[in-house]
Amino acid sequence: MSDEPSRPRRFPLPLARLGGNAGAATPSARAVLMPQRHLREAAADAARQLAPSGIGLDSAHVRLRMVQRLRQEGLRDERVLQALATVLRHEFVDTALAIQAYEDTSLPIGHGQTISKPSVVGRMIALLLEGGVATQQGHLGKTLEIGTGCGYQAAVLALLSKQVVSIERLKPLHDKAKTHLAASQQAHIRLIYGDGRLGHPPAAPFDSIVAAAGGEDLPPQWLEQLAPGGRLVAPMVAANGRGQVLVVVDHQVDRGSHRFVRTEHEAVLFVPLKSGVM
Ligand code: SAH
Repeated sequence: MSDEPSRPRRFPLPLARLGGNAGAATPSARAVLMPQRHLREAAADAARQLAPSGIGLDSAHVRLRMVQRLRQEGLRDERVLQALATVLRHEFVDTALAIQAYEDTSLPIGHGQTISKPSVVGRMIALLLEGGVATQQGHLGKTLEIGTGCGYQAAVLALLSKQVVSIERLKPLHDKAKTHLAASQQAHIRLIYGDGRLGHPPAAPFDSIVAAAGGEDLPPQWLEQLAPGGRLVAPMVAANGRGQVLVVVDHQVDRGSHRFVRTEHEAVLFVPLKSGVM
């Protein structure tokens, strides 16, 4: 699967091209126009790469088909769709599972953990992009991910962030993600082996925080490390105690007073957020 003739050229996607400081275009014009251009370029890439290659997973065509399905199913943010079309998900899972890598399904990554469905990864990142700082800047800014797993989501986040810090508590998975991400040479991803419930104070504050594992409560450290205008997205037990939902917390500042506004979204099912390291 690693014999792709030409890897996607824009990995990582330069931030400027995601609308961070793209000339005189208005933010809304950037948000609409730039991704369309990326999609046209991705389609051109796909056309160039249609030559037969193994079982075809290394073709941009398969990723674009996945993205088309996600769009039809309601994922609307073209920046997120473009990032999902760019990252080679099959390189983050075992060879035996690679054939399923572009289906909208979660997959085992060893040690009792799973890589989330692309639609869920996309949904969480789309929610992050609607945060205060992200809306202003046109990208996620400095991002903290709790639960690196195989590193797939970190790679997607990196295409939309200035910097990504990702924490994993299981050493073998931390090491695996290191290997996976080394190939992409994304200098702005930092992988930390540690307990993500504590966040990562040396790199705080973060404009965006996303958890890939679900807990009973919000660790106070996450809120302490969320920048003013920042947004946190995490799976968590619903306030009414009935199952796990996606929780969004916005750190708002109004005339010098800070508040954290929590909203609950759809039901989800994530692996548990645990304490300590192993
Ligand atoms: N984003 C990952 C999904 C991994 S599944 C990917 O793309 O592959 C969730 C991960 O969270 C697991 O690897 C699990 O070990 C990790 N996790 C659970 N509790 C944690 C904690 N307190 N700190 C860091 N990682 C944690």
